[in-house]
Amino acid sequence: MKNDDQLQKNANEYDVIIVGGGLSGLSLSCLLGGIDGLRVACIDRDAPEAQLKSDERTTAISYGSSKILARAGVWDAIAAQGCPIEDIEILDGNSPVLLQFLSGEVDGKAFGWIVSNRYIREVLMARMAELPHVDHIAPTTVKDFTVDEHCAKVILDDGKVLSAKLIVGADGRQSSVREFMDVDIRSWSYQQQAVVCFVSHEHAHRNRAVEHFWPEGPFAILPMPDHKGGGCCSSLVFTEHGNKRDGLMSLSDDMFLDEVTKRFPKSYGAIEIIDNKRMAFPLSLVHAAEYIAPRMVLVADAAHGIHPIAGQGLNLGFRDLGVLHYLIEDAVLRGGDIGAPELLLSYQRKRRPDNMAMIAATDALVRLFSNDLPPVKLLRRVGLKAVAKLPMAKQFFMKRAMGE
Ligand SMILES: Cc1cc2nc3c(=O)[nH]c(=O)nc-3n(C[C@H](O)[C@H](O)[C@H](O)COP(=O)(O)OP(=O)(O)OC[C@H]3O[C@@H](n4cnc5c(N)ncnc54)[C@H](O)[C@@H]3O)c2cc1C
Repeated sequence: MKNDDQLQKNANEYDVIIVGGGLSGLSLSCLLGGIDGLRVACIDRDAPEAQLKSDERTTAISYGSSKILARAGVWDAIAAQGCPIEDIEILDGNSPVLLQFLSGEVDGKAFGWIVSNRYIREVLMARMAELPHVDHIAPTTVKDFTVDEHCAKVILDDGKVLSAKLIVGADGRQSSVREFMDVDIRSWSYQQQAVVCFVSHEHAHRNRAVEHFWPEGPFAILPMPDHKGGGCCSSLVFTEHGNKRDGLMSLSDDMFLDEVTKRFPKSYGAIEIIDNKRMAFPLSLVHAAEYIAPRMVLVADAAHGIHPIAGQGLNLGFRDLGVLHYLIEDAVLRGGDIGAPELLLSYQRKRRPDNMAMIAATDALVRLFSNDLPPVKLLRRVGLKAVAKLPMAKQFFMKRAMGE
């Protein structure tokens, strides 16, 4: 019979420890928790109840990401509260619609689904609770890490030590795992912030997403399911220059509504800001020079945080999770080491080119669309019109938007 010390020791031994229980860490827990014989811990510094209350954002989940969430056993539940995007309209300043993507042009498939982050989190947490070999350890803070040839350990603030064959850093842009790995980062601030809120409107959105580029930054209207009171609803991402305290966040509720109303298409009818709530997020880019170190790997925003201009940050992260899940499952089936250097190298080789391409594309979009110099304005209008007229270019952009 095992004594208490032995039981305690085994309870603290995992195959994978995921540091960070944001949307990427929770999703990875659900993916890995489905692999037979794997024991997974997901650690977060915030209490789950607090996390559920603190994020007023929505995520545009691409078609490609929906496949990964289906593998994690959560897509049907998430889709039930999502709103499909069937039409994307792109406008520039005071111009009429310059480019329109219709789902009919891609075999009637939705470009993606808009889902509230709160709801995605709820579904992921519920799924984790069902998985017998996944422990959600929160709130707790990681004080330190140690790594040797055979295992890696995290030391928690209460002194408890957890060990695993692999530690995954899913702890966001200020990743402590990345800091411990001591990898260089490339980073800069866009000197912009995104103010997000939910808007109720008189007329239906007809599953249309609008991306309107103003000189001060993009103004994105994303279709949502009807809100509790039964009215039509969209989520808004209103970007402005400067991480200003004196910007949109400092306006009174009425003044903020005026600014939103000025930019909202008249076809939506009268609008209101739901519960008069808004939140601001400073926008920056961060990219780690390496995603791996002995027995450690970075995923999602811990590896690459991008501007939300194309709604692709988490979708890119989901693609990291898809690859890591595939490699770990394959190693488990072969009886191999899930923290082996070859596995980690293979992950990095598979993910860096895709991440770098998306970083370059979003960065170019931000620079192209946050600029009102006449030659730049002309260039982007000509560019958008050209894409609208060239079926192959249009198909390419539509497929990228879908994450295929
Ligand atoms: C305005 C806005 C709109 C966006 N819209 C979209 C969109 O439509 N589509 C899309 O794909 N992406 C979008 N994104 C990007 C997306 O939100 C992020 O890519 C995503 O939230 C990253 O998730 P994550 O789990 O990797 O990191 P985070 O959400 O940052 O989560 C990290 C977690 O780690 C925890 N943590 C941190 N440090 C520690 C530690 N030391 N110990 C324990 N826990 C720790 C934190 O508490 C947190 O829970 C948007 C971003 C913004 C700002």
